[in-house]
Amino acid sequence: MRLVKAVKAGRVDVVVAEGLDRLSRTLKDIAGIYESLDYHQVMIWTAHEGRISELHIGLKGTMNALFLRDMKARVKRGQKARVEAGYAASSCAYGYRPVRGVVDAKGRNVNGVREIDEAAAQVIRRVYDEYIAGRKIPKIVEGLNADGIPAPNGGLWKRNAIMGGAKKQEGILRNEIYTGKLIFNRSHVVRDPITNRKKYVANPESQWTKVEVPHLRIISDAQWAAVRLLDSPKQGAPRKRKTPEGLTVYNQHALTGWIKCGWCGGSKSLANDTRYLCSNHRYTKTCANSRGTKEPVLMTRTFAALYRRLESGPDFTPALERFFARENQRREQLTTEQDEARSKIQRLMEAVERGVDPAYATERILELQDSVERIRTELQTALPAPLPEEPMIRAQLTNAVQSVELSKDVPTQRAMFKQLLSEIVLTPIPDKHQGETVAITLREEGWPEFWRSITTG
Ligand SMILES: [Zn+2]
Repeated sequence: MRLVKAVKAGRVDVVVAEGLDRLSRTLKDIAGIYESLDYHQVMIWTAHEGRISELHIGLKGTMNALFLRDMKARVKRGQKARVEAGYAASSCAYGYRPVRGVVDAKGRNVNGVREIDEAAAQVIRRVYDEYIAGRKIPKIVEGLNADGIPAPNGGLWKRNAIMGGAKKQEGILRNEIYTGKLIFNRSHVVRDPITNRKKYVANPESQWTKVEVPHLRIISDAQWAAVRLLDSPKQGAPRKRKTPEGLTVYNQHALTGWIKCGWCGGSKSLANDTRYLCSNHRYTKTCANSRGTKEPVLMTRTFAALYRRLESGPDFTPALERFFARENQRREQLTTEQDEARSKIQRLMEAVERGVDPAYATERILELQDSVERIRTELQTALPAPLPEEPMIRAQLTNAVQSVELSKDVPTQRAMFKQLLSEIVLTPIPDKHQGETVAITLREEGWPEFWRSITTG
């Protein structure tokens, strides 16, 4: 307001700003400011846009949207740069305390430096250990309160502090910082234009920025992976079935669906919670195979087959490389498309400077910006983690399979079997009166998927 006053008093020749957005927080006043300045023949120059003309101000509202988006992007870039330098961009998470008095090479104060708070770190490790051991969250909360451990906010522990809703991504069991990774852009803020209240909206994981900060690690990758497997409702949801009485019960058997009869090829299901029997034999008597094998025996054999594959099977690296090569090809194609869209935007901008109808150009530029943004998002989604050496891959896979076995959690085990187990065929041993041979076929093509699910959470 003082600037406009000074302009009206004739004390200003030119206004110079970093960007047009610096002249007004909301940008909706910019048109008014421009109008006053133009009337008094005061030019506006900015570092980003050059000399500001009517075109920039936008006789149409769409042009404002263009700048507004640009401004948001710039703020984000600033925060992203801080995170990439290893500094926290947000408040201090439970388990850490801020380090004060750190100065950079130029003697300026550096905010966002963190160190581990060992007492809180103990609590975090306890929560992970208990959850992996199969303790339910209300029980974990109860235990912490019973031991008189103060919650992060100083009061009593509540469920959300351990693990909130999947959408909100809150709680100790969901914070990847504990594996030594800083994450930026998990959510964005929208402001209600009427009440001016802030609201946090979660971003898809593909838009997150992760930076390694090994000195902040509190738990191991294996612990993180085990928790992710336990906490995957979509994959691990037990299958529902209806009982003859019309009750919905959950199928709690880890291997149902994978067991086949070696004589008729039909499926075998668990009878009376003891042995897997051929369904054709049980219900229609069309198969003579009356033998069955107990579930614990089959579980042991299945995990043994997985460990044998992990120990002495062929290298995983080639399959992982093929799996990610397809994604890399797509990435290259997308990068080319992105470059093309960007140079089209550039050419349109130049055309507008030469006098092409700004209304048309603006619309086209917004379209192109949208497609650049879409491509950027997809590029992040497709980004494969760099492949470690073969022994490391094997160790990660073995760790994950062990966590699943130890978890004793049926949905978790089923989720893994979906990726790694093809079928188990049980055939009566011909020259004996009882017993079946167990032929386990693993799903070799499932390893890259499984590796990705344990390394990206
Ligand atoms: Zn059969």
